[in-house]
Amino acid sequence: MEKNIAVIKGDGIGPEIVTEAMKVLDKVAEKFGHKFNYEQLLMGGCSIDANGVPLTDETIARCKASDAVLMGSIGGNTTTSPWYKLPANLRPEAGLLKLRKSLGLFANLRPCHLFPQLSGACPLKEEISAKGFDMLIMRELTGGLYFGERHTEEVDGVMTAVDTLKYDENEIRRIAVKAFDVAMQRRKKVTSVDKANVLDTSRLWRKIVEEVAKDYPEVTLEHMLVDNSAMQLVKDPAQFDVMVTENMFGDILSDEASMITGSIGMLASASMNETSFGLYEPSGGSAPDIAGQNKANPIATILSAAMLLRYSFHMDKEADAVENAVDKVLEAGYRTGDIMSDGMTLVSCSEMGTKIAEFV
Ligand code: NAD
Repeated sequence: MEKNIAVIKGDGIGPEIVTEAMKVLDKVAEKFGHKFNYEQLLMGGCSIDANGVPLTDETIARCKASDAVLMGSIGGNTTTSPWYKLPANLRPEAGLLKLRKSLGLFANLRPCHLFPQLSGACPLKEEISAKGFDMLIMRELTGGLYFGERHTEEVDGVMTAVDTLKYDENEIRRIAVKAFDVAMQRRKKVTSVDKANVLDTSRLWRKIVEEVAKDYPEVTLEHMLVDNSAMQLVKDPAQFDVMVTENMFGDILSDEASMITGSIGMLASASMNETSFGLYEPSGGSAPDIAGQNKANPIATILSAAMLLRYSFHMDKEADAVENAVDKVLEAGYRTGDIMSDGMTLVSCSEMGTKIAEFV
């Protein structure tokens, strides 16, 4: 199969970690007989330096013309970098928000997988971490409280602030469909998280999710209140496969779930629209403190590339091969600095990429 991938390396460690992900994709192409064409594009600080803006219309158009986007990370040191002296709409992060919006990316997928080899980094009790866990949090990204009307005013001499939480059935249906589709490619269980005992938006959420579930008889659906979900994530994370939820609940729960995996350098993510198009990037930032030193952990970006293969290109065997290669490299004891522990072999960013490519 021949596919076109738009590549945004970005700033800081972005170029280093994306280079390693491309190394692994090239190995996949060679082994499975595919052809991946890359088009490198600028976004973030590097685009400000080259074009005066963090994202150009040309970059948006090129991303739209591609089959999927692979991204590193953008931004610099927020205290010292001149990019942060610019108005907010011209800073690096504004480019990413605009790109997500332009591409209609309403679903954020964050897998949280505790590799048994790294269970020591998990802050949970050993009896919980020993079971391991492998879940995916799907967060609605473009609606809800963060996008509702808001204002602050004085009412009868009292300062009063209002935020509005609104969802329509179409917004709920499209994210629910995405969650069930992804569950079909995993262990076929969906946990829908809401606050239906209090909120109208949650009651509508539950109703629509149940309607969508009828089209997926193989998938088990459960509903869970958000407060209970926060507890269950630390009590028994192994129970979850796909957790789907609205924007603000997802913002909080996905960070909680990330934390229990132990290392930011291991966390992949994807943002998708209604089709199989998506933007794939590590969950971490541009790590200016270690940029240019060949020290960064490229695994999150490599696992993001595996998601790209699975969800945008429907190449399940190839995605499995990448995930298994990561597993084998950890099993063989290779570690970058952020996940290093006694008795393991310290490797650089590029050595880690090379090892994973070898194991594919
Ligand atoms: P960060 O994630 O860049 O770094 C936090 C800590 O984690 C640092 O100590 C860093 O060295 C470490 N770290 C992160 N990724 C790592 C990796 N792959 N391997 C090893 N260590 C890693 O967060 P920050 O310092 O708050 O932000 C730095 C810049 O990144 C800011 O400009 C911020 O706006 C930007 N940012 C970008 C994105 C994105 O591109 N999606 C996301 C978050 C932050």
